[in-house]
Amino acid sequence: MRRVPLAPELGDTWLEGITLRTQGTQQRISARALFIMIGAAPNTGWLSGLAATDAKGFVLTGARAAQADDYATTAPGGFAVRDLRAGSVKRAASAVGEGSRSVATASRAISSLRLPRTRTAAGRLLRPSGCLR
Ligand SMILES: Cc1cc2nc3c(=O)[nH]c(=O)nc-3n(C[C@H](O)[C@H](O)[C@H](O)COP(=O)(O)OP(=O)(O)OC[C@H]3O[C@@H](n4cnc5c(N)ncnc54)[C@H](O)[C@@H]3O)c2cc1C
Repeated sequence: MRRVPLAPELGDTWLEGITLRTQGTQQRISARALFIMIGAAPNTGWLSGLAATDAKGFVLTGARAAQADDYATTAPGGFAVRDLRAGSVKRAASAVGEGSRSVATASRAISSLRLPRTRTAAGRLLRPSGCLR
């Protein structure tokens, strides 16, 4: 989608038109409604050098990152889910689903680290993933 400066033309009751400004030219379009899409830019600049992203900044995971796990990134032990993941369905319900599935993914990854297991004060075995056995 192109970014084009625009000026709305407000009538007495509703929007009547929009003027688009591109490279020194102006184009007026009659319009009764304007849909403003905001919030679609991933805030992933801080990942630079840690995990690969596509040209728009969405984090590569799974096959796009040459990883077997759907949510694994190019950063060892790094996973990405939801909207900032390249190719994800940008919808609330799928974001919740990915978040839920990622718990199992993270748990598997932590377990594979083979960290020492400790016992709680009550003597129960505490697994590295934080689960009690
Ligand atoms: C305008 C708009 C309308 C939408 N309408 C619908 C709709 O009608 N139906 C639907 O199903 N979906 C809709 N969506 C999509 C839906 O909102 C997203 O799919 C969902 O919110 C994605 O969840 P998320 O956790 O990936 O990201 P977000 O909900 O964006 O959550 C990310 C959070 O991380 C925080 N954050 C960002 N950077 C950092 C950082 N460096 N450190 C710490 N925190 C950080 C942000 O502040 C934010 O709170 C809409 C989205 C937009 C933008």
